[in-house]
Amino acid sequence: MKKHNFSAGPCILPQDVFKEASQAILDFNDSGLSILEISHRSKDFVDVMDEARQLALELLGLEGKGYKALFLQGGASTQFLMTAYNLLQSKAGYINTGTWSDKAIKEAKLFGEIVEVASSKEANFNYIPKGYSIPEGLDYLHLTSNNTIFGTQIKDFPEVDCPLICDMSSDIFSREIDFGQFDLIYAGAQKNMGPAGTTLVVIREDILGKVTRQIPSMLNYETHISKGSMFNTPAVYAVYVSMLTMRWLKKLGGVKAIEEINDRKATLLYSEIELNPLFKGFAAKEDRSTMNATFSLTDGDLKDAFDTMWKEAGINGLNGHRSVGGYRASMYNALSMDSVGVLVDVMSELERKA
Ligand SMILES: *Cc1c(COP(=O)(O)O)cnc(C)c1O
Repeated sequence: MKKHNFSAGPCILPQDVFKEASQAILDFNDSGLSILEISHRSKDFVDVMDEARQLALELLGLEGKGYKALFLQGGASTQFLMTAYNLLQSKAGYINTGTWSDKAIKEAKLFGEIVEVASSKEANFNYIPKGYSIPEGLDYLHLTSNNTIFGTQIKDFPEVDCPLICDMSSDIFSREIDFGQFDLIYAGAQKNMGPAGTTLVVIREDILGKVTRQIPSMLNYETHISKGSMFNTPAVYAVYVSMLTMRWLKKLGGVKAIEEINDRKATLLYSEIELNPLFKGFAAKEDRSTMNATFSLTDGDLKDAFDTMWKEAGINGLNGHRSVGGYRASMYNALSMDSVGVLVDVMSELERKA
């Protein structure tokens, strides 16, 4: 039986995408070849890469606005250093909203001065800092739009007069934002876009070429832009499955349509967390993520009973990250309202029994 998959990443993808993707392993485009055995330079794959890059810009509303989309390797973690390598000449600002921001800061420090403009570390990152002032003269400001581990999400983005970089790994394509306010967006595929192995980078070309250091070819955005994201062998299958997922999203009505569904799923779960006395939320209410809900039991003695119940209901991947504890329900685009309903039923069932 198919599980209700609340895993934080890698995570659920649309069932239709799994079907089409598995067929392509056996026979891709009726070519008599598997997608796993064709050249990345073949027309069939070049078409996939072109469509994937185009769909990414289209879904973000960034077509014809001076942006390029790339599908790179090395995960979002490589973007922590690649952004700094390419864009940090002397000083950059970071908003520290969790483990991933922290790691981005650590990497960037190898390349220049880092100003931690605001942080919620003192409260174990259970909220998004607000009302901070941004210093002058930054090469860029770096944000993490959704904090996968802590379950917080930036709702209002700061206005800045320097380039704005955002790690959107866990909420890309989940909600409508003016994506044109960002100069560089990156997202590891495995949270809301596709399988592990590729990372989407959407970049405004005109922010490049401003640092004086030498940049190795593989780590230079200009290399990948000039080669159409095919400088070396790309992650063929991961890009293909990401492309299928973006097609699925486009057919569904795009980011606006999925946002409405995501809002309804999050409202259903957060209402239960609020109304059920056996549960409490971790993140500050106004900053709660629509993608990752973090919560715990008010009475730890109920842990065994609850864990047995949700596992019996066919739920997978609900355990919280070790730095928060408790539970984390990840409700990415492909997770259905029905699955959230099953979780909420288990939570209210526990209340009836306890
Ligand atoms: C998972 C995650 C990362 C790390 O991604 P990798 O692809 O594993 O390097 C970075 N940032 C955020 C927000 C994440 O959720």
